[in-house]
Amino acid sequence: MVKYVYDFSEGDKSQKDLLGGKGANLAEMTKLGLPVPPGYTISTEACRAYLREGVVPETLATEVTAALRNVEDKMGRHLGDATNPLLVSVRSGAKFSMPGMMETVLNIGLNDQSVLGLAEASGNERFAWDSYRRLIQMFGKTVLDIEGDLFSEALDALKKERGVTADTDLTAEDLRGLVETYKAIVKAEKGMDFPQDPRAQLDMATEAVFRSWNTERAHIYRRRERIPHDLGTAVNVQTMVFGNMGDGSGTGVCFTRDPSTGHSGVYGDYLENAQGEDVVAGIRNTLPLSALEELDKNSYDELRGIMRKLETHYRDLCDIEFTVERGKLWMLQTRVGKRTAAAAFRVAIQLVDEKLITMDEALNRVTGDQLTQLMFPQFDASASKELVARGMAASPGAAVGVIVFDNAQAEAAAAEGRKCVLVRRETNPDDLPGMVAAEGVLTARGGKTSHAAVVARGMGKTCVCGAEALQIDAEAGTVTIGDRVLTGEDTIAIDGQTGEVFFGEVPVTDSPVTTYLAGGLEAGLAAAEGDEGTTELIEAVHKLLTHADSVRRLRVRANADTPEDSRRALDFGAEGIGLCRTEHMFLGDRRPLVERVILSEEGSTERQEAFDALEKLQKEDFLQMLDVMDGKAMTVRLIDPPLHEFLPSLSSLEVKVALAKANGGADPADEEMLATVRRFHEENPMLGLRGVRLGIYLPGLFALQMRALCEAAAELVAQGKDPRPEIMVPLVGSIRELQLIRAEGEAIIAEVAADKGVDLSKVTIGAMIELPRAAMTAEDLAHEADFFSFGTNDLTQTVWGFSRDDVEGVFFPQYIEAGIFGTSPFESIDVHGVGTVVAEGVRRARSTKGDIKLGVCGEHGGDPLSIHFFHNVGLDYVSCSPFRVPVARLEAGRVAVEAKVSE
Ligand code: PEP
Ligand code: MG
Repeated sequence: MVKYVYDFSEGDKSQKDLLGGKGANLAEMTKLGLPVPPGYTISTEACRAYLREGVVPETLATEVTAALRNVEDKMGRHLGDATNPLLVSVRSGAKFSMPGMMETVLNIGLNDQSVLGLAEASGNERFAWDSYRRLIQMFGKTVLDIEGDLFSEALDALKKERGVTADTDLTAEDLRGLVETYKAIVKAEKGMDFPQDPRAQLDMATEAVFRSWNTERAHIYRRRERIPHDLGTAVNVQTMVFGNMGDGSGTGVCFTRDPSTGHSGVYGDYLENAQGEDVVAGIRNTLPLSALEELDKNSYDELRGIMRKLETHYRDLCDIEFTVERGKLWMLQTRVGKRTAAAAFRVAIQLVDEKLITMDEALNRVTGDQLTQLMFPQFDASASKELVARGMAASPGAAVGVIVFDNAQAEAAAAEGRKCVLVRRETNPDDLPGMVAAEGVLTARGGKTSHAAVVARGMGKTCVCGAEALQIDAEAGTVTIGDRVLTGEDTIAIDGQTGEVFFGEVPVTDSPVTTYLAGGLEAGLAAAEGDEGTTELIEAVHKLLTHADSVRRLRVRANADTPEDSRRALDFGAEGIGLCRTEHMFLGDRRPLVERVILSEEGSTERQEAFDALEKLQKEDFLQMLDVMDGKAMTVRLIDPPLHEFLPSLSSLEVKVALAKANGGADPADEEMLATVRRFHEENPMLGLRGVRLGIYLPGLFALQMRALCEAAAELVAQGKDPRPEIMVPLVGSIRELQLIRAEGEAIIAEVAADKGVDLSKVTIGAMIELPRAAMTAEDLAHEADFFSFGTNDLTQTVWGFSRDDVEGVFFPQYIEAGIFGTSPFESIDVHGVGTVVAEGVRRARSTKGDIKLGVCGEHGGDPLSIHFFHNVGLDYVSCSPFRVPVARLEAGRVAVEAKVSE
């Protein structure tokens, strides 16, 4: 029989798959002997069974009874008892944290009887009725699916009637009346009484948490965070402790280090006389955690001790939720805390400096995605800016855009390509689509741990929260700041590092991390301008990248077609060029020469003249690039795209000729061109006359490129330089194709070497693997190749049969929505399909030539997940755009360390 229920004393932090993150960490804290209110976790396996079958597993009820009795015995109280009742919370908790995305119900066990027992036991009648009305409100909204506004409107109406503004000003009598109103809402909306049976409440709430895995907002969040949809959530049932039992009680959230800077200290928010949800929701403004020291020194000291203990135990920044119930501290949750990208780098190195972790471990505490975030531009410090408000710096970055107030406006702006900033009083999980669409988020209420802040940090989105000067009227579409009124027409800029809000457009500048990456440590430190945090960050990035470079096996090259790009690539640490696409060198003012090649007869003087002119220009291109890349490999891909890309557009020519004919006669040159364009028109150009096929179809074309390259290399060798060109043949499918081009290439190399009297034996010839047939016959192709580079863009296109220029914008959103894939296979390698073809190509190639050099130069070469795959499959190098080179270096280091651990 499958076991579905685990007491907190049974698990540990390694069991996130089964118990969810929250459940596993509650078990770990219980194991550490920390004051955790007793409870149990219903496993993710139970949720998966529920989602599969549509009913809870039959044996669950019995297991819950046993687990509940165990908790009751520990507490010496019974669920929903008429005197001194045990109350429990029911919370979701998936393997990966999904803040606020799924449901929570507190105060389960209260009913018309036990509310009196709670009043008696707590000696606080008001608290008891407030707890009961909260239960009906949460239960009504999340379990019974009643519109939440019905409850909050009833509460507001009551406050108005009593002439009070704060909930806390309502009396026990008021709240007792509110309970009746709430019960009437349930009856009116659902035609049923609010369930009085505590166990029924518990079971219904559990099922609601299971169901909440599949809400729309949970789906959106998972898609964005690349969390698989089939994991399911665990359900944590835990003894309630109360932060809202009057003075001496309260609840808070804290971090062992600052989650935006990484600095050690006391970071967190505390709310007196409140329940946990009040802090996270950002409804009331919180006190800094340090205020607890004055309010309740014992609890504060105990909490500091636990924070330190947890950080030592987890060897990482922890994020903690706690409650103080009448002077007694309880730990409700801990986890390795989400943090900003900058904090991730700083904390990793701080922990190394404190000897809590090794450099290898530190490398796995940061990601390529975080490094990318740090490379984002920031506001230009020297620009004149009009500061209009200040809030908390909740998530870094610089966002500029027009003001939007809700999801619809944000999504509409994004669809029109207009940048926008989502401005809200506070956010809640329903605002997720707007947060996704906006450049940044600005709220008027809530602290660094509010929903907006936590979610924005997780997404790497700029966020400023708690800008209290803002009076937001979403309905009227206005933001009032002092006597200034802004509307949706206005642009604002928010700085996620300082919390500043500016009016109007603000120019942005490079990040100091990018300055470091491009210019080295000294340049980076100079760009930090003495700022301590930035200096620490640059040093941390430097140490981690240096370590990554020292452990990685994968070499990192760049895709570059110009001397400038090549230089940038070198600055970013590229060790060579993995793909120089030569077709760009045939466009612009050189296009007429290509037209002449196409229009002229094979073997004609005209064609030869066009070839000669092109060769001369190409040689100049290669000279410059090889010079920049002196001593480093430079893979030159022979011309690849379909011919029609070099010819005028068919439709405009047709129109031109037709119009001219109608007006008395077309230019014969145009007519001739039209006939040629028609001849070369293809229904599926990506599968047509391109790559090696073009090289064979148009004799002399590849030859001129190879000669230009060899001549350029020869000239540099004669100057005492060390050019390392590699000739790469695109879209090869058969060994014969490669043999033909290779023979031609070898003859040219020998000819130029003899002619110029230099050694060109280092010039190699290889092929791109872009077709399934090439991968599946790589053992043959390897006889004719010195190297292979997987062109995973075309390989994805040909393995899936997707037209790469068409599909992403058309039906991929639906494919992602329908879970056919989580991310576009053009972005991150489709490991099962395309990946298997790559792996097979590697195996076959190496079966012929054990040491053949293998790389990848498709877009995937710069994608973190794909880089891990390429390491594991045994490639020698990845090649990506210059800007992604640092990310590739870091990820190549990370995967090398991971592989070391799993050896
Ligand atoms: C590829 O196909 O992966 C590749 C790098 O070539 P291109 O994108 O130029 O077709
Ligand atoms: Mg290609």
